[in-house]
Formats: sequence, C-alpha cells, structure tokens
Amino acid sequence: MPLVTDLTKIKQIAEEKQAENDLFRNFLKQQNNDAIDALVHSFTETITPQIDCTECGNCCKSLMINITKEETIQLSNQLQISETQLIDQYIEQSEQGQMVINTIPCHFLKGTTCSIYEHRFTECREFPHLHKPHFTGRLFGTMQYYEICPIIFNVVEKLKEAIYY
Ligand code: SF4
Ligand code: SF4
Repeated sequence: MPLVTDLTKIKQIAEEKQAENDLFRNFLKQQNNDAIDALVHSFTETITPQIDCTECGNCCKSLMINITKEETIQLSNQLQISETQLIDQYIEQSEQGQMVINTIPCHFLKGTTCSIYEHRFTECREFPHLHKPHFTGRLFGTMQYYEICPIIFNVVEKLKEAIYY
C-alpha cells in the first residue's frame, strides 16, 4: 500500500479495519518480540521522514501531555514568564504533583504546527514511541492512535504486508 497521509482517509480506513486490527493485535502478541521490533524500527526509520508532522499536528489535538518540573522551568524561561504564571495558564497539576497541559488540543498548537517546537516536551518528542523496544508489549496504546497518527497507521500497514497477509 502506498503511504496514506490524509487524516480523513486514515480515519475512514481505521473504521473499516477495526475487526482486522483486533485480529492483527492478537496475532502480534504471539510473535517473537525482537523480530517484530526489528521490523517496526526499520519501517519507522523509512516512513517517519516521509511524513511532515508540522502539516499534521493530529496528536497535539488528541493527547494528554505529561510534563516534568524541569520542563516547566525551561519553558517559562523560554516564554519569559514566571513558572507560576506558566502553571496557572497552561498546566493542570494533581495533588500528587503530576502535571499535564490543561487543554486538548494543546495550547501551543497553532494551526497544525507546534509554536514551541524546539522546546516541546519529552512526551511530545517521543510520540508515537515506535522507536522504542517491546512494540508487542505496547499494542493497546499504539493501536489506540492508529486512526489519528499517519506514522503509526503506515507502519502498522507495512507490518501487516510483511508478516500477516
Ligand atoms: S507542546 Fe507542541 S508538540 Fe507538544 S502537544 Fe503541544 S503543540 Fe503538540
Ligand atoms: S506524530 Fe503522528 S499524529 Fe503527531 S504530528 Fe506526527 S504524524 Fe501527526
């Protein structure tokens, strides 16, 4: 399948393939983890540079982003506002001190592009996490975003082509 980047089309295909994807997920759980990781990492390296995240921004409209204390300090310096002001304006804090951006879509998304791209949070940089090991141990989370992230969508479809069909 050629790469699909149209978000409407991806959503539509995801609906059509819901049953297929449930079966594929069960199939993957029974496969050798290292072999699947090798394929996923290889497809991710090829596919990611072909998809322009600045023209998508779909994850920024859907994800709850966790932030560390260090990141709030760095960003408040960058935005030249106090840390208290940053937290009041942009962050929700739990009683245990866990911090998340307080809006979905994210405050910092302008159109389809992150307005603090160079200073975006670790969790933003790491999504969609396909470069990490243990893909088969993270299937639930990954497949949750199959319909919103063109990188996940295309890597999963490529994986099906390689080992499933
Ligand atoms: S900080 Fe930037 S990359 Fe992260 S969710 Fe917000 S807009 Fe997206
Ligand atoms: S990571 Fe996925 S959903 Fe987020 S901007 Fe890039 S392609 Fe779009």
